[in-house]
Amino acid sequence: MAYDTQNIFAKILRGEIPAHKVYEDAHTLAFMDVMPQSAGHALIVPKTQAENIFDLGTDELQQLITVTQRVARAARQAFNADGITLMQFNGEAAGQTVPHIHFHVVPRYAGKALQAHGRSMENNTVLAGHAEKLRTLLNQ
Ligand code: AMP
Repeated sequence: MAYDTQNIFAKILRGEIPAHKVYEDAHTLAFMDVMPQSAGHALIVPKTQAENIFDLGTDELQQLITVTQRVARAARQAFNADGITLMQFNGEAAGQTVPHIHFHVVPRYAGKALQAHGRSMENNTVLAGHAEKLRTLLNQ
């Protein structure tokens, strides 16, 4: 299927809609998930037009996972997490809701369940505060 240039992450990448950005380089953008499953939930997307993992070349995938690891490290420190869950869905049947490949970085705490996937919108000020914490660590 052709890449949908009107998907929400494509619009964020083009600067058409706002995002709480935490990291950007020539190939990759990271920003806060607006419906976090845990405080500090971030998303990492490649700038290339790719719907899922099957559309990425190995170099592109390497760049994406390298930044994902950096964001995961920063999230662990910034949010004092006991662990970090990475998630990445390919296709609607697998739970993908936005058709532009992304990794989820989700801080985890012992004994604490995740909130539902993409269900409830977080307050803008809270998201801005979480983004600031991650940005500070990622831009050191
Ligand atoms: P997935 O189901 O893996 O495709 O995840 C898509 C994620 O994007 C969900 O966790 C949503 O909460 C998140 N999301 C949807 N719209 C936005 C947006 N405008 N900015 C940031 N995150 C978003």
